[in-house]
Amino acid sequence: MPRIRQQNVMAAQWAPNGGALGAPDLTSPDNQVFGENVFSPAIQRQRLPKDVFRRLQQTLARGDALDTSLADAVALAMKEWALENGATHYTHWFQPLTGSTAEKHDSFYAPTGEGSALAEFSGKELIQGEPDASSFPTGGIRATFEARGYTAWDPTSPAFILENPNGALLCIPTAFASWTGEALDHKIPLLRSMDALSKAAINALKLFGNMTASRVFTTVGPEQEYFLIDEQYYFERPDLVTTGRTLFGAKPPKGHELDDHYFGSIPERILAYMLETERELARLGVPVKTRHNEVAPNQYELAPVFENSNVGSDHQQLTMQVMQNVARRYGLMCLLHEKPFAGVNGSGKHNNWSMSTDDGENLLEPGDTPHENLQFLFFCAAVMQAVNKHQGLLRASIASPGQDHRLGANEAPPAIISIFLGAELENVFEAIERGEAGESTPESFLGLGTPVLPPLPMHGGDRNRTSPFAFTGNKFEFRALGSSMSLSLPNTVLNTIVAESIDYLAEELENALQGGAELEEALRPILQRSYADNKQIVFGGDNYSEEWYAEAEERGLLNLRATPEALPYIVADDTVSLFSNYGVLSQRELESRYEVSLEQYGTKINIESETAAAIAKTMLLPSAARHLALLREAGLSELAVESDDLIKELVSAIRALESANLEENQPHDDVLKHAEYVRDEVVPAMGAVREAADRLEKVVADDLWPLPKYSEILFIK
Ligand code: ADP
Ligand code: MG
Repeated sequence: MPRIRQQNVMAAQWAPNGGALGAPDLTSPDNQVFGENVFSPAIQRQRLPKDVFRRLQQTLARGDALDTSLADAVALAMKEWALENGATHYTHWFQPLTGSTAEKHDSFYAPTGEGSALAEFSGKELIQGEPDASSFPTGGIRATFEARGYTAWDPTSPAFILENPNGALLCIPTAFASWTGEALDHKIPLLRSMDALSKAAINALKLFGNMTASRVFTTVGPEQEYFLIDEQYYFERPDLVTTGRTLFGAKPPKGHELDDHYFGSIPERILAYMLETERELARLGVPVKTRHNEVAPNQYELAPVFENSNVGSDHQQLTMQVMQNVARRYGLMCLLHEKPFAGVNGSGKHNNWSMSTDDGENLLEPGDTPHENLQFLFFCAAVMQAVNKHQGLLRASIASPGQDHRLGANEAPPAIISIFLGAELENVFEAIERGEAGESTPESFLGLGTPVLPPLPMHGGDRNRTSPFAFTGNKFEFRALGSSMSLSLPNTVLNTIVAESIDYLAEELENALQGGAELEEALRPILQRSYADNKQIVFGGDNYSEEWYAEAEERGLLNLRATPEALPYIVADDTVSLFSNYGVLSQRELESRYEVSLEQYGTKINIESETAAAIAKTMLLPSAARHLALLREAGLSELAVESDDLIKELVSAIRALESANLEENQPHDDVLKHAEYVRDEVVPAMGAVREAADRLEKVVADDLWPLPKYSEILFIK
């Protein structure tokens, strides 16, 4: 089928599927949809007997296991609520190590034996499911003969109903473990890491005189970048369909150079899509807040209000699912790949992170009093120490093949982890290190020697967009996540490493206080030393610049460019002892994650490379050959020579790629070796094929070129 411009005209047409949503009167309570599809505490209060509700809340607050009678009562109410909302099935919704979510649907209805069916759902069914675990990656934890896995209800993340035009499904967020109790998912370690951090932070807070907080929650607010393209182009491109990114495509004459897209007015079709996505998410209790155009053409961003890390991570998975589902209703495809278009900015996810007490105090909020500021500096120092000590692990927590195209490509932070503090905070720490007193120095900042208590002025405008890990006024923003990633692993890592450094600093502080020192005088040398030891991680300059690469190397910071270099930090000695000390992941569990991630890296790239070889050989080469024949027929010998040379180049590149792809050429005895082979042999071979093909794209007759071009995909809305 030759491609003709007519297809673009079709792609540009759209209609809101199923009719417009309208704009209801939002002052009327009936029109408020937030949380409509959530079995929220408010619904629970309405529907559960008083004592059951109270016991459930107590159990949750204490983090205890649910007893059966309580579970039965909750299950009954949940079932009634779900049936009233049209749910016929339920699923234990979990997050296996694939990084996406998994669901197996069971009907509520069971035959009665009298030819009818009855809706049933017991506490046992609510609390625990037993899916076949054999098809989920476990990295060797579970032998195939022992296929059983358990899903266990996570009552701290509310159940919700997913709607479909033809029915509804009750989703029960759950954890997924092997029958020997090892975590096979991303939720269990995240919950364990939140516990670890809470314990450490509560202990530390006592030293600051806070005796009322009983729990500290880590919080997460993810900003999600994504592309929307017309689905017609998507389905015309086998590379997008199979790998989520374009493996071919010459740079279009217009990119984002004119900066006419970022924060520009949102095209009507896109806005219609956003409004429906947001409404759907609101009904699911996801507090979506912000939307705007991003830098690249057809690239956008969505951000919710932050929540505790567990609920926030679940909501983020749900958000990605809803974003992709709703797109189809508008004839669009939502691309979450980290680098769908070469030469065009990719998509990331900013992971805003902080810690809050159960009485609502943000521990990374500089305070109004010297006392609050001391506490703030303490937690800030703990984060710096943690990030410096575990740079490699943090980098590993965001590693994926998609990320390898993005990190360090002057559009996203480099692969080097560093912290941006902002000039003000950096000055404070620098002055602490020098032990100086004065106007805007830490002495006055700490309230020493000044009767007036100067609060730390923090300007949100003091930004550095190139930093992978930036302090932004009352939280840190880990900016290096990939757009398709689950939040769980990076947050598990953050929580655990910060728990460790809080404990470390708190122990020093406790010793000093026991020696009779006042808080300020006890803390000052601790901050001074911690900052001096860890300031190598602090960098306020341009992270994209060549000079930074050189300086970072001088400082001894890690620069782990590709996934196979980063992943070994997951099983490094430091990680293993830290994660087992804090009960977050055992050595076996870490090893399983390491294996799974490496295997996925190798497999994903092999899928890409086989797709690339097939497209090049069966689509691009034939079209180039037709073009060559055309030129020869027309007697355009000069142009024919040009095309002929390019075709020869393409053919030899295809041959080399096919050889790199051959099973027998790939080492299979060791996952790391395989990943390294793929990185060193397959990725460059794929690049060479693309190079030749992209040059051909600019030569071959437009109607003969079989793939939609960047100039169409990225600009037709
Ligand atoms: P920007 O694009 O300037 O980084 P946005 O307003 O788009 O800022 O996003 C900021 C994100 O940070 C939001 O998701 C917000 O909810 C989140 N956030 C704010 N405070 C906290 C906090 N204490 N903990 C975690 N996330 C937070
Ligand atoms: Mg941001």
